[in-house]
Amino acid sequence: MKYQKLISKLNPKFIKLNEPLSKHTTLRIGGPADIFYEPRTNEELIDAIIHARKENVPITMLGWGSNVLVGDLGIRGLVIRNQAKKITIGQKEIVEKSENNENLINQWEKSYKSEIRWNSATEKEGARKMYEFQDLDYDENDRPIVKVVMESGVDLPFAINHLVYQGLTGLQWYGRIPGTIGGAIFNNIHGGTHFIHEIIDEVKVLDSKNQIKIYKQNELKAKYDYSIFHDTKEIILDATFNLRKGDKKRAIYVAQEWTKRKALHQPSNSIGCVFQNISVKEKEKRGWPTVSVGYVVEHVLNMKGFHIGDAWISEKHHNFIENKGKATAQEYLAVIEEIKKRALEKLGLNLKLEIFLLGEFK
Ligand SMILES: Cc1cc2nc3c(=O)[nH]c(=O)nc-3n(C[C@H](O)[C@H](O)[C@H](O)COP(=O)(O)OP(=O)(O)OC[C@H]3O[C@@H](n4cnc5c(N)ncnc54)[C@H](O)[C@@H]3O)c2cc1C
Repeated sequence: MKYQKLISKLNPKFIKLNEPLSKHTTLRIGGPADIFYEPRTNEELIDAIIHARKENVPITMLGWGSNVLVGDLGIRGLVIRNQAKKITIGQKEIVEKSENNENLINQWEKSYKSEIRWNSATEKEGARKMYEFQDLDYDENDRPIVKVVMESGVDLPFAINHLVYQGLTGLQWYGRIPGTIGGAIFNNIHGGTHFIHEIIDEVKVLDSKNQIKIYKQNELKAKYDYSIFHDTKEIILDATFNLRKGDKKRAIYVAQEWTKRKALHQPSNSIGCVFQNISVKEKEKRGWPTVSVGYVVEHVLNMKGFHIGDAWISEKHHNFIENKGKATAQEYLAVIEEIKKRALEKLGLNLKLEIFLLGEFK
């Protein structure tokens, strides 16, 4: 059997063959992974990578699949969902319980329910506030630093809950962002004006020669939706964060407020904003109130209600595309292509993807 040699080297308890990736993505879209593996420690993760490389088996890292569109034909080779979930604060170690993505995503979806609907048509002037949440901003750079090391499999919602609620602040801007620490570092997640690299001291990776390598913050080349790992394809193992002994009450309020607003305006059956924001220069040139492409899709391209099959431009936030039932990756991609085409033809605007396409498409 194909991959037999690799399979014999992995921990059999954590392997699934031909595992549908629709069970492991927030969109619930994606064909099968040839081998789906969930190592419980960084040692097991490193071991798997070394063996797969030796056997020339392609490797794909996956967190919650909350920023990826996986093709309907799935992913060949080895797909790894890292379950190494240790958080170290000084001498203290906390290990988050291992949980499969399906349960994590279900729990996250149910964790904040609201019936209130944002009427975007009447919120035109408030668009900036609604899309960017700038009113929640503040600075704590003068507070004492606390070093916290987190393995890449730690779930971001768990980390926020756990750390902010004990007064270790810095992650509050990322309330209700689904995913893992690995995924957050890979694409340098943003929450309003904040980027996660700003609170990173260093990142430990396994490089292409199977050596451990450390990147200091200034070596990450981090910017909006980008880190050096897009190009190096290295495996993120863990990261040391510079959190602050901050204002616990305020951080909890901000994390909760972000969560509340995001739950109102951003549908969970999605993969986040599909397109990157436009530049401030472009926004000013066009006289639009926000850099969010959601505004452009809704108010300029007038694509409210557009859908192909079950892939719908979201009515909550028009830079999101939802899977309202049984959407395929093909349909999802077709909606993306249509928005891109209209933006280019009608506005001369070249929209860039904020999400990643993984695996094989029809
Ligand atoms: C409702 C909703 C709201 C969102 N809001 C935001 C937001 O406010 N800001 C924002 O920036 N994003 C947002 N996102 C997008 C997404 O949640 C983030 O980008 C998240 O950090 C992705 O993490 P993940 O673990 O799910 O990564 P995945 O989607 O699983 O993977 C993303 C990429 O990271 C790579 N990767 C993952 N782990 C590793 C690793 N250990 N080593 C190397 N590479 C790795 C994968 O190969 C893939 O290329 C949102 C998404 C949703 C559904």
